[in-house]
Amino acid sequence: MHGTEYMQDTRFAIYSRISRDRVGAGLGVERQQEDCEKLVAQLGGQIVATFSDNDISAYSGKPRPGYEALLRVIKNGDVDAVAVWHQDRLLRRTIDLEHYIDVCQPTKTPTHTVMAGFFDLTTPAGRATAKTLAAWASYEVETSTDRVKSAKLQAAKAGKPSGGNRAYGYEQNGMVIIPEEAAVVREAIDRFVAGDSWRTIALDFNERGIPTAKGKLWAAINVRNVAVRPRNISIRVHNDNEYPAVWPSLISMETWEDLHLAIKRGQALHGQRSYTRKHLLKGFVHCGLCDTRMNIINAQQRDGSYSPAFNCRKKDHRGQDVGCGRVKRKKEPVEALVIDCLMYRLDTPDLTAMLAKDKGDSGKLKELMRDHEAQSLRLQEILNLYSTGEMTFSEYKSAKTAASARLDALGRELDQKTSRNTIGLIPAGQTVREAWDKADIQWRRQLVDTLIEKVLIYPKQLGDQKVIYKGFKFNPDRVEIRWKA
Ligand SMILES: [Zn+2]
Repeated sequence: MHGTEYMQDTRFAIYSRISRDRVGAGLGVERQQEDCEKLVAQLGGQIVATFSDNDISAYSGKPRPGYEALLRVIKNGDVDAVAVWHQDRLLRRTIDLEHYIDVCQPTKTPTHTVMAGFFDLTTPAGRATAKTLAAWASYEVETSTDRVKSAKLQAAKAGKPSGGNRAYGYEQNGMVIIPEEAAVVREAIDRFVAGDSWRTIALDFNERGIPTAKGKLWAAINVRNVAVRPRNISIRVHNDNEYPAVWPSLISMETWEDLHLAIKRGQALHGQRSYTRKHLLKGFVHCGLCDTRMNIINAQQRDGSYSPAFNCRKKDHRGQDVGCGRVKRKKEPVEALVIDCLMYRLDTPDLTAMLAKDKGDSGKLKELMRDHEAQSLRLQEILNLYSTGEMTFSEYKSAKTAASARLDALGRELDQKTSRNTIGLIPAGQTVREAWDKADIQWRRQLVDTLIEKVLIYPKQLGDQKVIYKGFKFNPDRVEIRWKA
């Protein structure tokens, strides 16, 4: 029932497609084309265009260049009819069908299929048939998606790898450790625990020519993701659930705990005195006249160029009074001076003794962090008890006050310990200067915070212009460093 008789010169377009989701049920493009050619011969017509898309699912919404070309020849009236092996080679979603109907309507282009017969999309009955078939095709795709989902869940429960991209540190099968890459993961974790930022580690890996699993350069986020993935302790994650995995662990449980404590420490420090700022001394520098914390502005120089400078603001951005507005100093020489003084000071025996005392204290630090975490949980629990009516309001208040006080005390102790710990991180055999040169801004700011209470800058005086310090017209005598230790 092909419904129409064609003239010998009726122009046909053939369309064929292989979809990945129909492997087995589908046919090769060549076979589809052959069948279509036979159909066109039976109908009586000539093939003027052949289009195909290979290995692209019509369901995924990916572009199909062959299909787009077919639509173009239909629109342009370059063909009179379309032959296709099965409707689902052409369209799988009802929304696609609507569009196809719209394209065929103006030129009244009919579509013939080898498997499902003729669709006269210009009639309501033809359109209804086509829509029903499209609906069934969608249903089939959706149920096969469910089957895939359940297969994935089974694999996850069995602790098997998820497949896909190769996990760094493991071979493609996800089961065998690659020793060289495993060493890279462990180094990243050790360094982060020791205070390096993910960014510093990424830059270092790139400099050393160590590529990612995909052979690319590392970004901070890549290093972090590889370090914190549960795969490292042989855990398979699927839809936020964790399952014991069948592959070997890359790191010990202890290392895993250290890593997560270090992440928590970073979060705890964040928001107090931020160590992630761009400028070494921001927040430490005060005006020598009015003691206002100076901010950093871009100050225009005599030659018209701009460079950052510490500035005592008279008013803030809201117009509120802030400081005296009488002191401003170029940032670079101030920083250079403070660094020099830091290095000099770190060379003194007193300080070495003080630092030695704090070294090897990481056990205590861990204990503090666990306490801190436990207290945070306790606070949450108290709130829960109150909200579920298991505690009266006055019980809640006194419990909360006690827990908060304990938490504050732990927080302060933790701050001290973590900043002290910075210096404990100077590797053996390295001078402070060498460690400084290799460190990132986060580490440097922690070091400044450990030793410096504040830096005061006083107004310039007559003759300061003649004093040259490290190539700057800058008098170090106008800067005072107040030390903590
Ligand atoms: Zn001031």
